[in-house]
Amino acid sequence: MAKVRILPEILSNQIAAGEVVQRPASVVKELVENSIDAGAASITIEIEKGGASLIRVSDDGSGMSRDDALLAIERYATSKIRQTSDLFAISTMGFRGEALPSIASVSKFTLVTRTQHSNVATKIEIAGGKIRNVSDAGAPAGTMVEVRHLFYNTPARRKFLKSENTELGHIADIVLAIALGNPEIGLRFFVNTRLVKHFPCGQSLFQRAVAVLGKDVINNLYEFESLAQDISVTGVCSNPSVTRTSSGRLYFFVNNRVVYDRGLVAAVFRGYDGRVMKGRFPVGAVMIEIPFDRVDVNVHPCKREIKLFDPGPVYQLITRAVSSAILKAQENITSYSRISVPEFHEPESQDSPKARFNWEVSLDESCDVVLPVCEPCDSRPASQQGHGSRYFSASHKESVQEPGSGFNILGQIMGTYIVAEKDTSLVLVDQHAAHERIVYEKLKKRHEKAGVQSQSLLVPETLELGHRDADILAGILSGLSELGFKIEPFGGTCFLIRAVPGLVETKNIKELVTDLMELASEACAPSLPKHKWLDACLISMACHSAVRANHKLHHAEMVKLLEDLEKCDNPMHCPHGRPTMISFDKNDMEKLFKRVV
Ligand code: ADP
Ligand code: MG
Repeated sequence: MAKVRILPEILSNQIAAGEVVQRPASVVKELVENSIDAGAASITIEIEKGGASLIRVSDDGSGMSRDDALLAIERYATSKIRQTSDLFAISTMGFRGEALPSIASVSKFTLVTRTQHSNVATKIEIAGGKIRNVSDAGAPAGTMVEVRHLFYNTPARRKFLKSENTELGHIADIVLAIALGNPEIGLRFFVNTRLVKHFPCGQSLFQRAVAVLGKDVINNLYEFESLAQDISVTGVCSNPSVTRTSSGRLYFFVNNRVVYDRGLVAAVFRGYDGRVMKGRFPVGAVMIEIPFDRVDVNVHPCKREIKLFDPGPVYQLITRAVSSAILKAQENITSYSRISVPEFHEPESQDSPKARFNWEVSLDESCDVVLPVCEPCDSRPASQQGHGSRYFSASHKESVQEPGSGFNILGQIMGTYIVAEKDTSLVLVDQHAAHERIVYEKLKKRHEKAGVQSQSLLVPETLELGHRDADILAGILSGLSELGFKIEPFGGTCFLIRAVPGLVETKNIKELVTDLMELASEACAPSLPKHKWLDACLISMACHSAVRANHKLHHAEMVKLLEDLEKCDNPMHCPHGRPTMISFDKNDMEKLFKRVV
């Protein structure tokens, strides 16, 4: 008997579901994209238990006749393409005709749909891929798809669902991305019957970007537009001072489809032309409109990856658009400097520490290091940087008189590296990495001793967040209070920062808190236990607090820095693992000069 056989339809749908339906968020994405393709003006998304118990998407789009509805749940049934050539010029979100049957094969699925011209709606109920009932129903024109108990009949898949919050986070990510890519469409997002987000119909991209990215960015978003032949690039991008630790808040859309493509991210970076620090990412949205036949969206069943047939001109257009937006914003010098570039004041003199003490907080009694906040790994010229030169308290004078370290400091080069001699070696020290190590160890010791100090803010800072970020922050408030932050919910998705650990300069608090939230969102994965998250927070706080590159240090400051570095448990590396110093001994030098071989 032949061993090869055609798989039963339900099984092949379930196999397809393995690719299309990875988690509840993928169901939401497919259903909402169908609503967009159906020309909906407004879409409602309802989620219960992180999508594991209910996902319901309703729209006011075209709806389907009964015949079409019955066809739609068949595999490879689509109204969106007809022939091979259509596959190379896709104008819709969907085209593979596999989402509905895949989803219906791994859930309890109900579809209710009615066209404008019909008096009665069709209701189709399916369980695990089997049609249970087809009936008439009363319903408004449009379509409602309800997916209950996802993966109920594929326990292995169900087991892989993460916590409710994690799944909800993924769903919120998708909803926000789709909302941003379709600003004219109204979206209502309910979680456990509560309306958590409402994007009104007919918004401009700018209005939608503010709604999605959080009100905090409102003064820091620049719009751009660039056209060349048949490609158009529009969007918003953030002032270089508003950055995140990941590219997750930098959205790209190709013909309204949310996509991810490293080349696009790189093109945006080129537009910033070195203004964004290493390891940081701007926030924003880039909408690319390109003829449908110049892009292949059929690269992966999830349709998130795309292939531009000729990416060069698109990348150039993005770079140009971003670059001119940033330059234009910089021309408007008053608003730019008010928003983003803290003024740079040289300390009047090294002997007038008082002027500096209003913001300085020592880590502990014995510690005479004061910690200006600096942006991590910054390579901007000092004139664009904030505080930074004020690195040591008055007691550095004593350090000069009694240098405790074995370093003989020769000077500083490139505003970034300290050149010193130790024993018979030449030592180069990266000032940012070294200071980061010192601060990190002090913070860690203080935290281990539970000696957290908080510093109340005279004026509490308000954080206006997006829904997703608000959820993350709410989940880490107690962890943050262990670190010395006092942050309270302030209604809706708003929070008040009342106190910060005793070392943070007010200006950068929001950015620091945002960074810690991002660490937490990665920490959603159970693989990062709480103590690791706390440690990652300490590293981030150290990074924010450490003196920057491109920043002149006085001799006494360098002496103190090296002295403190030597006292560290692990003086050779910054907490991220980069070396703090590199040394060349006599032998190395002789080899370099080929005195010896
Ligand atoms: P695809 O979107 O790739 O065509 P789907 O399985 O997602 O495949 O949907 C199958 C078909 O069902 C679509 O081509 C469309 O004709 C119809 N359909 C699905 N959802 C809706 C909706 N919300 N409104 C109107 N028609 C829909
Ligand atoms: Mg579809």
